[in-house]
Amino acid sequence: MENIDWKSLPFGYLKTDYNIRCYYRDGKWGELEISSSEYIDMHIAATCLHYGQEAFEGMKAFRGADNKIRVFRCPDNAKRMETSAEGVVMAKVPHDLFHEAVIKTIKMNLRFVPPYGTGASLYIRPLLVGTGAQVGVNPASEYLFMVFVTPVGPYFKEGFNPVEMLVCRDHDRAAPLGTGHIKVGGNYAASLISIVHGHNKGFSSIIYLDAREKKYIDECGPANFFGIKDNTYITPSSTSILPSITNKSLMVLAEDMGMKVERRPVEVTELDSFEEAGACGTAAVISPIKKVVDWQVNKVYEFCKDGKPGPVSVKLYNKLTGIQLGTEPDKWGWTEIVE
Ligand SMILES: *Cc1c(COP(=O)(O)O)cnc(C)c1O
Repeated sequence: MENIDWKSLPFGYLKTDYNIRCYYRDGKWGELEISSSEYIDMHIAATCLHYGQEAFEGMKAFRGADNKIRVFRCPDNAKRMETSAEGVVMAKVPHDLFHEAVIKTIKMNLRFVPPYGTGASLYIRPLLVGTGAQVGVNPASEYLFMVFVTPVGPYFKEGFNPVEMLVCRDHDRAAPLGTGHIKVGGNYAASLISIVHGHNKGFSSIIYLDAREKKYIDECGPANFFGIKDNTYITPSSTSILPSITNKSLMVLAEDMGMKVERRPVEVTELDSFEEAGACGTAAVISPIKKVVDWQVNKVYEFCKDGKPGPVSVKLYNKLTGIQLGTEPDKWGWTEIVE
């Protein structure tokens, strides 16, 4: 695409050429349908509009140093969408159908895959919604699975630069036995108010605590949390955290680098003892955290005092992005070459 300024792409929506749709009717999935429209036609009583029967995924494809296009851990996203579908009682998208739709959508929009070296990538958004009409609270009998793509730059305008986060004590994102562990829009609806509140106060993102005790760190808005101390990678365990595929990958990389990995409850006050802290997810890979403000209890935690990301975060970031860009060996088979 000659007229896209790849290096200054925001993390936003840009129209591409095609998207894919697949309908579930009469108990079975139909054929993949290619569309160049950005709109869908839907019944006014569709369950996704009223009762939140909706789940999505977020993944990326990268143009590598060798000019090949790689997609990262697609089978994990297929599996997670299945778990999400079960969680809000929707028809499950078979893994091969998910995979085929993702690969096809990338291939139909090749001219939107950003060039190597620009820091940009092709964001892939699979989406599953209940389209059948219900007025009483019941699961729909019809579903629509869609995949669209859009080229994106860094999620945080700071890129791989340390960000400031606000601890949220006025709202909860998800209940301990609610839907926090699945990727559904409802969690985001619940979190928007605190995210907007944080943005207005100048913070990049929010740190959510466990809803029951407000004592432990859950996660950071659309990203998981990790801390580093004593050669150990520490990430919270909780029933209301979305299991991040980036976090899962970083745990493997940390262990491979000779670090210990701990997944356990992390009290917010433990932030005091971390040498480094970060948020991780597909959108930003790693966002190093330089400051966490817990203003209701008059507490500020600071990291990266020299203003730069910590050494372990840098190492993990370089390793993971290297695998995605084909400059580091992919010894766990995380990437698939699309073309
Ligand atoms: C998608 C998401 C993440 C990040 O998961 P990745 O698989 O690493 O992209 C983290 N938290 C929430 C709430 C999410 O929705």
